[in-house]
Amino acid sequence: ESPFLPLYPSLTQHLKSADLFGALDRVPALGAPAGKRTFQVFNPSTGELLAELPDMGVQETRAAIDKAYVAQEKWAALTARERSDTLWRWHELIVTHTDDLAAILTAEMGKPLAESRSEVLHAAAYLQWYAEEANRIYGETISAPSTDRRMLVIKQPIGVVGTITPWNFPASMVARKISPALAAGCTIVLKPAEQTPLVAGAMFALAAKAGFPDGVVNLVYASEGDAVGRELCGNPKVRKISFTGSTEVGRLLMRQCSDQIKKVSLELGGNAPFIVFDDADVDAAVDGAIQAKFRNAGQTCVSANRLYVQSGVHDEFVAKFVERVRELSVGDGFGEGVAIGPLIDRQALAKIEAHVADAVAKGSAIRCGGQRIGSDGTFFQPTVLTGISSDMKVAREETFGPLAPIIRFEDPDQVVLAANDTIYGLAAYFYASNLQRVWRVAEALEYGMVGINTGRMSSEAAPFGGVKQSGIGREGSRHGLEDYLEMKYLCMGGI
Ligand code: NAD
Repeated sequence: ESPFLPLYPSLTQHLKSADLFGALDRVPALGAPAGKRTFQVFNPSTGELLAELPDMGVQETRAAIDKAYVAQEKWAALTARERSDTLWRWHELIVTHTDDLAAILTAEMGKPLAESRSEVLHAAAYLQWYAEEANRIYGETISAPSTDRRMLVIKQPIGVVGTITPWNFPASMVARKISPALAAGCTIVLKPAEQTPLVAGAMFALAAKAGFPDGVVNLVYASEGDAVGRELCGNPKVRKISFTGSTEVGRLLMRQCSDQIKKVSLELGGNAPFIVFDDADVDAAVDGAIQAKFRNAGQTCVSANRLYVQSGVHDEFVAKFVERVRELSVGDGFGEGVAIGPLIDRQALAKIEAHVADAVAKGSAIRCGGQRIGSDGTFFQPTVLTGISSDMKVAREETFGPLAPIIRFEDPDQVVLAANDTIYGLAAYFYASNLQRVWRVAEALEYGMVGINTGRMSSEAAPFGGVKQSGIGREGSRHGLEDYLEMKYLCMGGI
């Protein structure tokens, strides 16, 4: 009897390459044999069953950690060039299979196919970046305070890294975490989100083809995060946890890591302000707001959650923005011209409905949208609200959906205070042209990332991450590599 679980035609109909399909079908072999317990993965646009996967728990996680632990020494003993070459091969395979990976992503997550393609290429860009970066791990020498000593710092891989990823960017989050870890000489155990494990599975299948030695990359499928998370945090062979997801779960993992003072990298929730000042180019700001708000149906941690627009341009901005929002078509991510897919699940739909109801009850006006589409499914109309006050949920919480609340403001100093008045500090955006204002506002915003006259800033070349309760650490760029390296100080005496 085959240990592999079925993928259904609802998924395989979208795949062009038998090659990838064959590999995907065998993915559990990379982690542990398919257990008796299983869980199912559904297409959020259609409700169709896509696949059935083994539901792994503590035992399988421990086995994967053991494999990663044994493999780590060998992986770190390779030359940087050899690690780099393997990452390059993985990058090339992902690029070759972009269409199929994008189709899997759209099937399990719902986002428009064009967005899925660009996400897969963004994932590949991390592998490319860190394939290059693997060759640029440097130590340092220090001028010693006495002549008979030599002092230096070497960089070494942290060890086995446990990683947990969310459903909203199921391909790029996997690559963003794994690639710097592998470049640094670490090995990994990854648990993808239960809603979107298939594209991660396909990427791991391609990793096996790329020639990573056995045990270097390990995938654990699970229907929930708790058991796997506890084992990753509690097992002393795991030296670091890298997590992207909600602040609530991030806090829990940090607590679970505290017994062993285990290192953590956390990319958590956001509540991004998007400020349009009177001196902004309004048309450019409308473009930027559409991108920053509605990409991935607003289900991004850097989504513009609160739009502050200064009085002088408020009415013009609202009129132009609403016109553009009305044009966004909602539907199945495989549909032609679709800009907005479904929300991930009914809970997400209930949250956005509650946010709209709360705002309307407190005096806000719906300028467009405001309702779910159809009675089943999780589609929601792209929505614009005006007349927002600071006591409304839309102004305080992360909505994580296609809802844009617009807050009118008069005083440029006050708006920066309002923008900073949140527990989060991931991304902020503003549009302005006065140079003095650009500098002062950029410096005053308490955020890890600030987009100035742009609605889009994620890049493998830049450090992505937040301050306050949005996280710890940075991903991407050379800084992202440092998060997976320990520095060791060497002091040589009697010289
Ligand atoms: P979530 O925290 O519920 O889930 C994320 C992952 O954590 C999933 O793999 C899930 O299985 C796992 N998980 C859940 N409970 C766990 C537990 N008790 N122990 C261990 N693992 C557990 O988050 P979500 O709702 O899937 O994702 C949305 C959130 O992620 C938003 O808040 C968003 O802002 C954030 N996010 C942040 C970034 C970033 O880079 N800062 C990127 C994407 C998403």
